[in-house]
Amino acid sequence: MKKINTVLGLIAPEDLGSTLVHEHIVASQPGWECDPLSRPYDRGKMVQRCLRALSPVKPYGLGAIIDATPVDLYRDVEILKEVSEQLQIHIICSTGRYTEKRGKWDYLKARSGNGVGDMVSELYDGFMQEITRGIGDSAVKPGVIKVATGLNCISSIEEAVLRAAARASKETGIPIITHTEDGTMGPEQAALLVGEGVDPKRIMIGHMCGNPSLKYQMDVLSQGVNIAFDRFGLEMFLPDKIRIATLIGLLGSGYEDRVMLSHDFIGCSSGRGGVMPEEGRRLTANWSFVHVLRDIIPALKTAGITDAQVRTMMVDNPRRLLSD
Ligand SMILES: [Zn+2]
Repeated sequence: MKKINTVLGLIAPEDLGSTLVHEHIVASQPGWECDPLSRPYDRGKMVQRCLRALSPVKPYGLGAIIDATPVDLYRDVEILKEVSEQLQIHIICSTGRYTEKRGKWDYLKARSGNGVGDMVSELYDGFMQEITRGIGDSAVKPGVIKVATGLNCISSIEEAVLRAAARASKETGIPIITHTEDGTMGPEQAALLVGEGVDPKRIMIGHMCGNPSLKYQMDVLSQGVNIAFDRFGLEMFLPDKIRIATLIGLLGSGYEDRVMLSHDFIGCSSGRGGVMPEEGRRLTANWSFVHVLRDIIPALKTAGITDAQVRTMMVDNPRRLLSD
């Protein structure tokens, strides 16, 4: 089996351990740096905030986290390195891009003459640079490519990202993990990537727990790819009880070797932060890096899910995604 690229270098697949497959240790909203009232970027303070957010996972024996932050959301591999070193948790970082609506596209649009003709090669060259040579001058290499699509459609730019990621994955074997919006476009993402020739075992379609339809789930799973139930605790989109019920349906149908778990939590952000109404605070009260380990897995076990099934989702599936 292939070794796995973490922010501190290569590790053997058997050293990965229990893994959260889609989190953001540090991520910020595009435009925060235009706010004259936001504090300057202070890496030391950011590290401390990330450590505070992550330390509750230590008693549960978490081995690794896939950080799904694309470059548009202020990925900072130096912070990831420090957090990994101090907490002794493996961190796998991403190359890749965010949605057209919420990412940073003006520069690439201008370079490609506002068409998408050259955009696939532009994006592919960028991904390959980071995969083969490392991110900036950090020597850190990403372990996954992150791609994303918007609500109810895949824009031409998002399609270019998927096609560029597919090329890079076919050449290097690097896995592709995805963002889907509000439980839409999962089947279309899988079809596009598999149609481009990516090995389905190297694909994880994300945020699938945002759609409770078993038909939708099967439309994705029937294409041979993996899926992530990776927004536990974000109950303003869908209550955890419905995510759990959908997951139990899939596990009862024999899909335990294709599902992985996570929260899409953000450990810390730059800028002044958003104002969350009371209702929003209530609906994210459990959203954290520890919710799956502390609350969701025990709830699954109460419902009859076995320790072996949990181990398959938390340990074996991430290892296979990253290293087979
Ligand atoms: Zn995310």
